Amino acid sequence: MKRFFLTTAIDYVNSRPHLGTAYEKVCADVIARYKRLAGFDTRFLMGDDEHSQNVYKQAIEQSLDPLAYCDQMEQVFRTAWRHLDVSFDDFIRTTEPRHRTGTTYLAQRIYDAGDIYEGVYEGWYCVSCEEFKQEKDLVDGNCPLHPTLKPEWIREKNYFFRLSKYQQPLLDHFRDHPEFMQPDTRRNEILRLIEGGLVDISMSRAGQSWGIPLPWDPSSVVYVWFDALINYASAVGLGAPEDTGRQMFERWWPADLHIVGKDITRFHAVFWPAMLMSAKLPVPRQVFGHGFMTINGQRMSKTLGTIIDPIEAANRLGVDPLRLYLVKEVSFGGDGDFSWERFDERYNVDLANNLGNLVSRVSAMAARYRSGAVRPTGARSDQLVRIAEQVVADYRRAMDAFMLHEGAAAAYRLIDATNEFIAATAPWTLAKDPASADRLTEVLFDAAEAIRLAAVLLAPIMPASSREILRRVGVSAEGLTLDRDGRWRADGERVLAQEGPLWPRKEQTIVTDNQTQAPSTPAPGTTPGTAAPGTPAPQSSDRISIDDFMKVEMRVAKVLAAERVPKSNKLLKLQVDAGTEHRTLVAGIAEAYEPDALVGKTVVIVFNLKPAKLMGIESNGMVLAASPDGGQPRVVTFEDPPPPGSRVR
Ligand SMILES: [Zn+2]
Repeated sequence: MKRFFLTTAIDYVNSRPHLGTAYEKVCADVIARYKRLAGFDTRFLMGDDEHSQNVYKQAIEQSLDPLAYCDQMEQVFRTAWRHLDVSFDDFIRTTEPRHRTGTTYLAQRIYDAGDIYEGVYEGWYCVSCEEFKQEKDLVDGNCPLHPTLKPEWIREKNYFFRLSKYQQPLLDHFRDHPEFMQPDTRRNEILRLIEGGLVDISMSRAGQSWGIPLPWDPSSVVYVWFDALINYASAVGLGAPEDTGRQMFERWWPADLHIVGKDITRFHAVFWPAMLMSAKLPVPRQVFGHGFMTINGQRMSKTLGTIIDPIEAANRLGVDPLRLYLVKEVSFGGDGDFSWERFDERYNVDLANNLGNLVSRVSAMAARYRSGAVRPTGARSDQLVRIAEQVVADYRRAMDAFMLHEGAAAAYRLIDATNEFIAATAPWTLAKDPASADRLTEVLFDAAEAIRLAAVLLAPIMPASSREILRRVGVSAEGLTLDRDGRWRADGERVLAQEGPLWPRKEQTIVTDNQTQAPSTPAPGTTPGTAAPGTPAPQSSDRISIDDFMKVEMRVAKVLAAERVPKSNKLLKLQVDAGTEHRTLVAGIAEAYEPDALVGKTVVIVFNLKPAKLMGIESNGMVLAASPDGGQPRVVTFEDPPPPGSRVR
């Protein structure tokens, strides 16, 4: 079996996990789960970085033994990752004996190779960064990252790693392995840095007790950055004396993928491979530098009050909704933004109204028309099957390239297609005609099968929800494999469970994009909410100017959900996706349309109507419909639907 070894950065334990650290772990977890699904023997490593002077100081400030402090923080981190359903196989702490073994071993090998020499370092040092700073890096004499903290002038004995010697070998490596550093933008940054010339770097600190002593000079400890990088190899048995440790190292090293933040790519793509080259050990196959999460467009910072606790975020709407947001709303490798409003909005659109509603509708129709049990009749719906096959191929391609957002989008294309399939086949109409009995059974089976397939594709992103959906469509979630379960299957009866909504709608305030949108002006003389039948056509003398017309903003919108308004024969309550937001509106079309028949349809709405209350429901906009004399209203739709939000004029 092919193996896949991936790691995340290990976390400094002097502060608690936040949404930014959680973002990295969740994305890594999605990759780990995908690799397992794709049949790889997968090892997923995470851990804590404990040999930091800041950690030491933090512990002393709290009157704790540093190790006892790290023990406490380990629980804080493990609890957060468990809560977010992060499925690491191993968790390393740099104070563990196995890490001391690996670090001592690697440092000695590099020393023996002649790549470590003694010198004196004299210069500025930022305690918070735990980094020596050159004069040119300082702003007004201060560290740009810690402007309120005076850097210290330090003169001490240091051992230096001969990084300069590895400039050419690194350039060769980058040339021969273009995949080594990804995405390409970061690869280019790092290449420029190497081409600009590499200077030898300090790899030890003198006169400190917190750290791993140098094997050849125990009066100094290994510098924390040098120590931390080695965790990836010490976790799989680097330097372990016994046979089992060596076998483990041979099985798992080199790592296939290091996932790290863009701020530490230079450590992982320059220093770390140089250290391994010096020790004559294989270098990792790939380093992936992900972007940062901002909160409402601002960087996460304690002073700005923009730190979000990932557990709090998960508790608001659920772990899986948070995981889906992090994966689907951010293109992996780029920066992303989080806001509570956007989180609520995506939850309603992607989960409550779309996937959750689809599962409910199909199981409700299966219950109503077939007592919950559906089976293939042999006349499967070829177009839906073709879309499903294309989606699986796109999904695999995206996930293999770690384009996680595109993988999620592919799964959602299948969900959208299934909604459209139901709108087009209209099971509620088939149910009225006994001659269509087989067709109805097949349509319900095919819809359930498409849901099953989408749930398999979403399993790495939303593991618990995927299991629940699979249970509801009557299949097992045990031991999923992409080869077996990631294709269209028409194998026998499925018993669907009709239960409560997977994701109840979250009522929210409407989010408008103030930056790009002028305040809406209501069109004069219109009745909000419904297309009133029988309105007389304007006389030519009543003709309006183009300016008047342009005041009416009409937009393409996609119906996400529809239900009858209680105690009304005429009104339907609709949820629509209008591109930049989704809206609730009330339309007087209940006599002409079954609610189910509207879901998935693309319609036209008047977007800038003042809200109006109809039967106690606030309607935000109006659905356009034709109103033939004496006939029932007919909603304006498209043969070839444009994307929601497109302007109609
Ligand atoms: Zn600093």
